[in-house]
Amino acid sequence: MVRGIHRPTVAKVDLGAIKINIQQIRSHMKPDKQLLAVVKGDGYGHGAVSVANAAKEAGVDGFCVAILDEAFELRESGFTEDFLLVMGLTEVRDVALMADANISVAVSSIEWLEQAIPLLALRKTDNPLRIHLAVDTGMGRIGIRTESKVRAFESFCQQHESLHLEGIFTHFATADGEDEFQVERQYEVFKKLVASMKVRPKMVHLANSAMTLWREDYETDAARIGIAMYGYNPSDTTLPLPYPLIPALTLETEIAYVKQMQEGETISYGARYRAYEGEWIATLPIGYADGWRRDLHTLPVLVEGNACPVRGVICMDQCMISLPKAYPIGTKVVMLGESHGQINGPSEMAAAIGTIGYEILCGISQRVPRIYI
Ligand code: PLP
Repeated sequence: MVRGIHRPTVAKVDLGAIKINIQQIRSHMKPDKQLLAVVKGDGYGHGAVSVANAAKEAGVDGFCVAILDEAFELRESGFTEDFLLVMGLTEVRDVALMADANISVAVSSIEWLEQAIPLLALRKTDNPLRIHLAVDTGMGRIGIRTESKVRAFESFCQQHESLHLEGIFTHFATADGEDEFQVERQYEVFKKLVASMKVRPKMVHLANSAMTLWREDYETDAARIGIAMYGYNPSDTTLPLPYPLIPALTLETEIAYVKQMQEGETISYGARYRAYEGEWIATLPIGYADGWRRDLHTLPVLVEGNACPVRGVICMDQCMISLPKAYPIGTKVVMLGESHGQINGPSEMAAAIGTIGYEILCGISQRVPRIYI
């Protein structure tokens, strides 16, 4: 994917904010718990390697990613010794690579382990495969669900030197909401599954950002922190943050073209918007190929703190906005972030189009250069 370095559309990432967020979260955690930085999805759109470097400087205990390639990206970028967990499922054919790279992996069936054993003979090192048993306590995504299967899984690991059962973990479906019932039910199931093991693994973990922010009493050896580290509220607007976090990303562009319209002249594909007499229209070099989705046309963008409505449909590479007055070409436009005290946050944007802040951040495409400040 080409990065658009010859146009003014950029995502500025404040790595200092990420470090402060980590310190803030850490200061509210019990001191013996590990803090793992979740940098999947290219660091939630912020750039995985740069975020991981900042997180490491802020003292995190390791990293979590979703897919094996994301783990290799970190290993190849100098994170050679760090704890690194792939939380999603991996292909068993890659098992020797995972062991050789000392990567910890989520596993959710004995069948996978059985297939792994002969393939592990092909590894170049003596590293055992570091396994985190995924247990499904109510998320319904991946993981073993019964005590008998947990016991069988554990005993299989104990019988094979090439396997090291390093952890057991689960993920909560409703930790970002007000309803405690499902959270408690999942916690009870998790405790039962862990208790069915003969030997408690080194890492028993269950917390994401929401569990860490709002439910610090739930026992976990490690917190897998994603969205909160980037400075955003996992619940968007449902629950207030218990302490402040600093949003790390600003998506900016500049006015590329300005004109004054006559009444009834139309804007963009479908000629659906008709201008009013004298309306100032600016064209911005950002569109849905940059992650500025077509359905965001309901959300104003910010020019010197003024909320400027989008006019007409958003194109692939450009969109048009209405200005309160003539502004010169080159005037800064904040699409996502803060401008003169006004904020377009991912949560506000998400609310406008019926999604969640996570999707807005991850949706900023690779065409938009990330600039680190
Ligand atoms: N743990 C698991 C298993 C996840 O899938 C995720 C992200 O979806 C996280 C932790 C981090 O979640 P959050 O970004 O809400 O902290």
